[in-house]
Amino acid sequence: MAEIGFVGLGNMGRPMALRLIAAGHAVRGFDVAAPAREAAGAAGIPTVEELAATAAGAEAVFTMLPAGADVRAVYCDAGGLLAVAGPDTLLVDSSTIDLETARDVHAEASAGGIAMLDAPVSGGVGGAEAGTLTFMVGGEASDVARGEPLMAAMGRNIVHAGGPGNGQAAKMCNNMILGVSMIAVSEAFALAERVGLDAQTLFDIVSTASGQCWSLTSYCPVPGPVPSSPANRDYRAGFTAAMMLKDLRLARGAAQANGANTPLGSHAASLYEQYCADGEEGSDFSGIIRMLRGGG
Ligand code: NAD
Repeated sequence: MAEIGFVGLGNMGRPMALRLIAAGHAVRGFDVAAPAREAAGAAGIPTVEELAATAAGAEAVFTMLPAGADVRAVYCDAGGLLAVAGPDTLLVDSSTIDLETARDVHAEASAGGIAMLDAPVSGGVGGAEAGTLTFMVGGEASDVARGEPLMAAMGRNIVHAGGPGNGQAAKMCNNMILGVSMIAVSEAFALAERVGLDAQTLFDIVSTASGQCWSLTSYCPVPGPVPSSPANRDYRAGFTAAMMLKDLRLARGAAQANGANTPLGSHAASLYEQYCADGEEGSDFSGIIRMLRGGG
């Protein structure tokens, strides 16, 4: 059993903290929003009223926050985790954030002699509840080894992606593929509709041909071929369009900052910008097929 702090008790953090408790760990949760603290308390997560209390004597502190600015504030502000954590506390940021912030915060942690990992996840709220998340981890191998048993309480796959920030790099590359492939699959179904090719027939052929991909076979954007996909429930998320847009913007920002040529990734970001601006932020990201069909 370990003493573990958990900061950010939202849609993902709450079920992740509950998995740690179910594995026998003593968790102290903190969220800046009182309603989130109360909801976590009601769900059975002991909470504290101050960020600093998550770190006192803790073996590890996990953070699960919305964006890079929140992570920078929680780690680097006066009274933040880097100021209050002891040398034996491992800090693990599982938020999905920009590469630059991830590497900056890592560097500041290292300068202060504090071990840190970036460990964003895929698998969504369902994966967090079931303890089947994938963790993509950046940091020193010895720190990954320390964090691994704790991440294993929340996830099924823990993959060391390399040095500081490489967990975020892996996540943004994966999700750029996902955004682009969902648009490609959606365009193919929209084209098939126009030229008189039945959706199920297209699915049956492509799922065993060279166009096969996860967006088609696990998350098909038309109702019917994959009964569990959000298309069968009027595109109720799932993985929201707003989250996909966030991840595509992170990839676009990293590509611009590092001179990578990602024209399809950038275009996917602008299409999701358009889709979200139509009031679809909360819809599942596969619902973009409705916009791509067009009206003309
Ligand atoms: P959320 O908005 O539900 O939860 C974030 C929580 O962080 C909120 O309760 C908020 O009050 C809290 N918070 C913000 N600033 C804080 C601070 N300074 N101190 C303490 N708490 C603070 O978001 P979520 O859906 O749980 O997502 C969290 C992260 O996980 C995001 O980076 C997201 O991109 C990533 N993610 C989400 C999913 C998903 O399906 N929801 C999947 C994979 C990754």
